[in-house]
Amino acid sequence: MNSPTQNDNASTPRVPVIAIHGGAGTISAGTTTPEQAAAYHEALRHVVATAQAALLQGASALDATCLAVELLEDCPLFNAGHGAVFTHEETHELDAAVMDGATLAAGAVAGVCHVRRPVRLARAVLEDGAHVLLAGAGAEAFARECGLEMVEPSYFSTEARRQQLHRVRDTGRVVVDHEGAAMASLAHAPLDEDRKFGTVGAVALDMHGHLAAATSTGGMTNKRVGRVGDSPLIGAGTYADDATAAVSCTGSGEMFIRIAAAHDLCARMAYAGATLEAAAYTVVMKSLSAIGGTGGLIAVDRHGNLALPFNTEGMYRAHARGRETPKTAIFA
Ligand code: ASP
Repeated sequence: MNSPTQNDNASTPRVPVIAIHGGAGTISAGTTTPEQAAAYHEALRHVVATAQAALLQGASALDATCLAVELLEDCPLFNAGHGAVFTHEETHELDAAVMDGATLAAGAVAGVCHVRRPVRLARAVLEDGAHVLLAGAGAEAFARECGLEMVEPSYFSTEARRQQLHRVRDTGRVVVDHEGAAMASLAHAPLDEDRKFGTVGAVALDMHGHLAAATSTGGMTNKRVGRVGDSPLIGAGTYADDATAAVSCTGSGEMFIRIAAAHDLCARMAYAGATLEAAAYTVVMKSLSAIGGTGGLIAVDRHGNLALPFNTEGMYRAHARGRETPKTAIFA
């Protein structure tokens, strides 16, 4: 997708571009009903179309990505906000981050369990500017100070996620390995619910030529209490720099942290002159795969090129360019 576009001339308004993801993982072969797939496609289409409309009205990439992510947080199909996965202790701990490519300002939160829309709190951390990452009780105190909507942890719970935890906990595993044959009893959705990474994210180029990225997640099913993944770590699961690209990742978070995935993509463009497509491919198919990591990412560069690579069997994703009809996809 790295061909010259209308966005190569910096003096003219950019054609805005938005891309979103709802996680990557293993397909439950043969169990995908048309109704299930349609529900995911429709959710993705609604979110990307809403953010697209905002961008066309002049919204900043920062606003558009936050808007898309909070809509995904509200949707129980995805592992963020309402519908977040459970920890081993049957609790929720949510992580989120947002980064503005124009200024390199960033905000992130980890391990919150009362903030309805964690991406709004990440945005508040960014706006405040004193810190980049707040965790746990301190992050929640800051959310209250900012007047953000607080909820009981049960707000995040869905019966499907609780059953998912019980199935996984019974196996004694922390679900980070979604490779291999799916367990027959686990098949409930287009992606195997226990072997997919349902983190949500968005990247955008706005008509002013600026980039932004946002990511939000419940983390991994059956994770140890206190575990923090890649999503809220700037440079690992989330990064944006107008000079190169905006990136949001999904997958086995520990592996994305170890290769500093999102920043590595941008560094390959900045230092080695790689195209977005080549840099994204190398990060996911080579660096991530080399250490046994699984998942994918979405990325957009300052020219409006898009890359959406994943090394799993599927990744919920959608994108829209200018006024074009949004495109949604699940499988490879
Ligand atoms: N990357 C996320 C994490 O490790 C999980 C996901 O993508 O669903 O917390």
